[in-house]
Amino acid sequence: MERLTKQFLRHVGQTSPAPMGITVERAEEIYLYTPDGRRYIDLISGVSVSNVGHSNPAVVEAVKRQADSYMHLMVYGEMIESPQVELATAILRHTPGSIDCLYFVNSGSEAIEGALKLAKRYTGRTELVSFRNAYHGSTHGALSMMGSEYYKTAFRPLLPDVRQIEFNDMAALETITEKTAAVLIEPIQGEGGYVASSPEFLAALRERCDRTGAMLLFDEIQSGFGRTGAIFAWQRYGVAPDIICMAKAMGGGMPIGGFAASYDVMKTLTFDPVLGHITTFGGHPVCCAAGLAALKYIEDNALAESVSAKERLFRSLLSDLPHLKEIRSVGLMIALDFGDEVFREKVTSECVARGLVTESFLFCPTAMRIAPPLTITEEQIREVCGIVREVVEREA
Ligand code: PLP
Repeated sequence: MERLTKQFLRHVGQTSPAPMGITVERAEEIYLYTPDGRRYIDLISGVSVSNVGHSNPAVVEAVKRQADSYMHLMVYGEMIESPQVELATAILRHTPGSIDCLYFVNSGSEAIEGALKLAKRYTGRTELVSFRNAYHGSTHGALSMMGSEYYKTAFRPLLPDVRQIEFNDMAALETITEKTAAVLIEPIQGEGGYVASSPEFLAALRERCDRTGAMLLFDEIQSGFGRTGAIFAWQRYGVAPDIICMAKAMGGGMPIGGFAASYDVMKTLTFDPVLGHITTFGGHPVCCAAGLAALKYIEDNALAESVSAKERLFRSLLSDLPHLKEIRSVGLMIALDFGDEVFREKVTSECVARGLVTESFLFCPTAMRIAPPLTITEEQIREVCGIVREVVEREA
């Protein structure tokens, strides 16, 4: 195992100076198991991916069955592949009525890239607007939309004609104009530390976009597939975007993403120029089969419907923790904000040492992240909260 760790550190490209470095041999439901028999509880779902639990048997079975039939056939969009057709149809039952076409890609960042290109192509405009503390991915276009200069400076020049405005600030909406192609927003900011849009703000943003002809893009890459208590967060707000970006939990643990829009909007990627977005592996049939099994599992087991009772239980068990400044949550996106980075760091390190995999947020280092698989049970929530309480009380 020591050799594996050394090779990991030397040969596997990294961006963190201190990776968690847990060797995982097997994962199941909410648990990760190491070769020496340690068991960890995954409290962050591999960052909002494992909504149906790790190695969900229905997903594994679908992967095997599809791999037996066929894997990659042709660059995306040419052949009729039934896993793509079935997954698109199943997902589009949960999008607004106007959104009836889904373009498959490989990741969240690529979904954002495609959606931004689509908005520019459809509107013929160039200005792109996003929000402070927004995270939309790490490729050049997605990075341009990030709401933190610290992570962008070293990579400039990025996309031109991009602006960040204040989140949940009504006055900032006035700066969206007839020049704006798209406004991209996470209904619940993920890396900002699970900060939710106010319903009034999201409604006003929709209105402003309608008035100016700007397209409204929702990044539901973290909030999608049941995490907030609905399949997508737009359903909770009752505000319909023009384009929805999705990824992460979409593949039930396999890599896939997508952006969905109306057929008429999406069609503009087929002319002037043709092939307006090209992807080789987008909508890989094995990933689509996995995604379909995952979505069916979420629906059949009413996982989204189970989320608010679990959220309430977490809140009731953790709200009175010492040193807690604020607990923010939308469904199973829960942030314990201690208002103190040093204290939070001690807490998360000790949680990991005691077998709880958790971390902080890119733009909110004072808060600890709780976003377990949606399959987590009441008993498991009580166990997790018991450990968190012990750690916090000891560090306090
Ligand atoms: N958008 C949001 C809200 C995210 O949280 C992430 C990833 O964390 C992305 C986009 C980028 O997704 P990916 O890492 O799959 O490119």
